[in-house]
Amino acid sequence: MEKYQAIVELIKKSENILISSHKSPDGDSIGSSLALYHFIIALGKNPVVCHADKAADYINWVPGAQNIVLFENNSEKTIELFQNADLIFCLDYNSADRVGKDIEPLLIASKAKKVMIDHHMNPSDFCDIVVSETAVCSTSQLIFELIDQSGNVNLLNENIGIPIYLGIMTDTGSFRFSSVQARTHDILAQLIRTGIKHHEIHEKVMDTNTVDRLQLRGFVISEKLELLKDFPVAIMSVTEEELNKYNYQKGDTDGLVNVALSIEGIQIAAFFSEKDGQVKISFRSKGDYYVNLLAGENFEGGGHKYAAGGISFKPIQETINQFKSLLPKYI
Ligand code: 5GP
Ligand code: MN
Repeated sequence: MEKYQAIVELIKKSENILISSHKSPDGDSIGSSLALYHFIIALGKNPVVCHADKAADYINWVPGAQNIVLFENNSEKTIELFQNADLIFCLDYNSADRVGKDIEPLLIASKAKKVMIDHHMNPSDFCDIVVSETAVCSTSQLIFELIDQSGNVNLLNENIGIPIYLGIMTDTGSFRFSSVQARTHDILAQLIRTGIKHHEIHEKVMDTNTVDRLQLRGFVISEKLELLKDFPVAIMSVTEEELNKYNYQKGDTDGLVNVALSIEGIQIAAFFSEKDGQVKISFRSKGDYYVNLLAGENFEGGGHKYAAGGISFKPIQETINQFKSLLPKYI
């Protein structure tokens, strides 16, 4: 694709290349950011990855993760990097506010060329080049396409392969979701040929727990699950006090919303988690039920048809009640 060649030309012409992704980075943010980081290094440049905050430990071991500059730890350095950048990549997000209130003004004010590579619907207009492929499962898969379709597949190495594999894996529920294409598996095969140990990636991401993490998850499943009578909807929630009781670490409740969705007959699952006086909400759905509109129109969020999220500044029980009262409108 010509766009991918133009992006590689831009990389070769630029001096200060900055890679950004959305706030609360997930596996695809870390995967796409670090895959691009190692690809740009392979092109002979010296890029920097800047995120708002740290990712959960289970994804933060990827080669290069220790070099990510975080606004939450080093705001001055982040500001300087944004001011000096002549090329900024916007990965795995479709609008400037997704980077969070600290980085958004830096991104908007920057005179750098901006390149969006993303797979969310309705990209907003703040980048010079936009690669928006909503049928593709992950931004990490699009980083592979950038490398392949610009004629640079010979530069693939393990440092690029590991994060791409991780990002595809975490955005597809380990290659299960309908977003997985035959092309996805072609790409995975090519990644495995770089020598990556795919089983170690699965083990680190899926099969590593602390006792606190497991017991928190058990508690939420056994005590905090509500099935609605009139709708095929399951709700799980957890308060800050409950999180503290289990020494909550970032990532400990990730994926619980999918457990709620797995219940027979359930078509929509919502997970409410209270933190620092706010309520973070995760929505998942299947079949003819979509959650992106509900999240966007009511909870300052958005996402994909079957996986979306949002936030509420009301108390957690009030937020749950609000969600329930919206169901007749959205179902
Ligand atoms: P999660 O439930 O894993 O936090 O988020 C699922 C998906 O919903 C993400 O991949 C992202 O696309 C979207 N999402 C989550 N939180 C937000 C948010 O606050 N705003 C927007 N626009 N999308 C979100
Ligand atoms: Mn993604």
